[in-house]
Parts: sequence; structure tokens; C-alpha cells
Amino acid sequence: MGRYVIVGNGVAGVAAAQTIVRADPAAEVHIFSAESYPYYRRPRLWKFIAGEIEQGALYLLSSRPKSQRRIWSCPAVPPTPARSLLPHSESPGRS
Ligand SMILES: Cc1cc2nc3c(=O)[nH]c(=O)nc-3n(C[C@H](O)[C@H](O)[C@H](O)COP(=O)(O)OP(=O)(O)OC[C@H]3O[C@@H](n4cnc5c(N)ncnc54)[C@H](O)[C@@H]3O)c2cc1C
Repeated sequence: MGRYVIVGNGVAGVAAAQTIVRADPAAEVHIFSAESYPYYRRPRLWKFIAGEIEQGALYLLSSRPKSQRRIWSCPAVPPTPARSLLPHSESPGRS
């Protein structure tokens, strides 16, 4: 099983995580972000602000049961150089 760390919880980071788990179904991916929220659909923000949808409808990944999750959002780390999230690894992207 591969374990992967991605820094950045936007669509780029999430698309990378989804690509990894498609290629390696046993992979475990942890996405770190400077934001306090798991990945949210930015284009839907206006609907939330307008009161047309609930906050939960913004989130994509956290709707899966934990037992089925391969991608984990780890929000609220301070802006951090990627290398410092990988204390025992010489290779960014794998641990
Ligand atoms: C309100 C709104 C509506 C939008 N609507 C559309 C639309 O309809 N169609 C469209 O194509 N695009 C739309 N966009 C633009 C689209 O959301 C962006 O193009 C897209 O989010 C870019 O994705 P990204 O992953 O490259 O960057 P971002 O979404 O900016 O994600 C970067 C992530 O990395 C994190 N990060 C950055 N530096 C660090 C660090 N040092 N340590 C830890 N974490 C870090 C940030 O906190 C963030 O979570 C919209 C954007 C907004 C704000």
C-alpha cells in the first residue's frame, strides 16, 4: 500500500489524490491544507452564501463513510513547506 502526502486542498490537490487512488486502489492519501475546511467546491460558494444550499453540500470527499475512504483531508495546518510534512522521507509525495 502506498502512502502519499499532498499539500494543497484545491481542485489540483484533490484531482491528484483521485488519480493516485485510481492507479493504486490500496493507496492512502493525506491532503494537507492551510485552510480550516476539507475540500469544498468553490464554484458552489455563491449558492451557499445565498442560502440556497447547506454547507455540507460544498464538500465532496467527506461524504464517503470513513471505512471506504482512501483520501483524507487534514485541514488547518499552517502554511507549511511540503518537505517539513515528510520528516522521514527523502522523496516528496511518498512516505
Ligand atoms: C467563488 C469561486 C468560484 C469559482 N467558480 C469557478 C467556476 O465556475 N469554474 C472554474 O473553472 N473555476 C472556478 N473558480 C476557480 C477555481 O476554483 C480555481 O481555478 C481552482 O480552485 C484552482 O485550484 P487549485 O487547486 O489550483 O488552487 P486552490 O483552489 O487555490 O487550492 C490551493 C490549496 O492549497 C492550499 N495551500 C496553499 N499553500 C499552502 C501551503 N504552503 N501549505 C498548506 N496549504 C497550502 C490552500 O489553502 C488551498 O487549499 C472559482 C473560484 C472561486 C473562489
